[in-house]
Amino acid sequence: MLQTDLTKLLGIRVPIVQGGMQWVGLPKLVAAVSNAGGVITALTQPSPTALRHAIRETRALTDKPFGVNITLLPTINPPDYEGYVRAAVEEGVKIFETAGSNPGPLIKFFKSRGCLVIHKCTTIRHAESAEKMGVDILSIDGFECAGHPGEDDIGGLVLLARAAKELKIPYIASGGIANGQGLAAALALGAAGVNMGTRFMCTVESPIHENIKQKIVQSTERDTVHIFRTLHNTARVFKNKVSMEVVAIEKRPGGAKFEDVRDLVSGQRGRLVYENGDPDFGIWSAGITVGLIDDIPTCQELLERMEREAEGIIGRMSSLVTPRTKL
Ligand code: NAD
Repeated sequence: MLQTDLTKLLGIRVPIVQGGMQWVGLPKLVAAVSNAGGVITALTQPSPTALRHAIRETRALTDKPFGVNITLLPTINPPDYEGYVRAAVEEGVKIFETAGSNPGPLIKFFKSRGCLVIHKCTTIRHAESAEKMGVDILSIDGFECAGHPGEDDIGGLVLLARAAKELKIPYIASGGIANGQGLAAALALGAAGVNMGTRFMCTVESPIHENIKQKIVQSTERDTVHIFRTLHNTARVFKNKVSMEVVAIEKRPGGAKFEDVRDLVSGQRGRLVYENGDPDFGIWSAGITVGLIDDIPTCQELLERMEREAEGIIGRMSSLVTPRTKL
């Protein structure tokens, strides 16, 4: 078994967390990840009351720990963050994944309620300030990730090596991980575990349409693209007709305003991709791990396989070390 600070702090068996995913982090998937750490995505729920129901539904499906993700990024309609936060805390949730801009007040509130906070960030300077704010675990999100990688474009290998040098609290690796090799590599880079999104989208229990899972299986690492680069809200999404249209609009002389792409990128439209199974219907987040994913296992099969692969790799790596002979 792989025992790390992450498994100890969260009370989970496998050092893997299923991170927040808009339209995907629903009770069925969260509960299926039960041996690792599942996270309900708050903003996927239409209201704080719906979030309460999702928390209760998850609890009915698993007695294992799970958390709630709150992401603070630009949105078309401002969410009732306070309402979501209050609902989750009142429902007794003790683990939160935070992400996005200006998380200070949120982190302070969760800590004042005795909650454990995993904060996701894409730079070492943001990780250091979150550390000062008292978060318990940092989720270090490399450029490979789905969704918002920040604007610094630093890949996981360098970011994690920097984290090992600079951070005092445990951190997990996020972005680019989909198998036991990724897990073992993250542990070698000092991480206490990994966070995965895209890989969990492509599992039996994931609530998205079967066609989209098949699309992920067929895709290569060249099938994602960045949108919103020019709006300083970069997001890695699946390369399709809609995302390529957004990129073309952003490249027009004089650039684009958000209003120019708003109807194309709306999350409500993207949600329908997962419902109707048409990969070209709207924008949907995907990491470059689409190039590593070639099956649709159950969450349990996936976790057991990753654990086994990582243990095997770690065993083989240690056998590379032989006693030094005198020159
Ligand atoms: P939405 O429909 O409100 O917006 C769609 C997309 O447009 C989002 O990526 C959003 O960040 C972006 N956006 C909205 N207003 C903008 C503006 N004024 N300028 C630049 N970009 C703008 O969002 P949604 O799909 O309902 O998602 C809800 C929240 O969850 C958003 O904040 C979104 O960014 C976030 N999210 C995060 C991830 C991630 O990688 N962590 C993945 C999916 C969604």
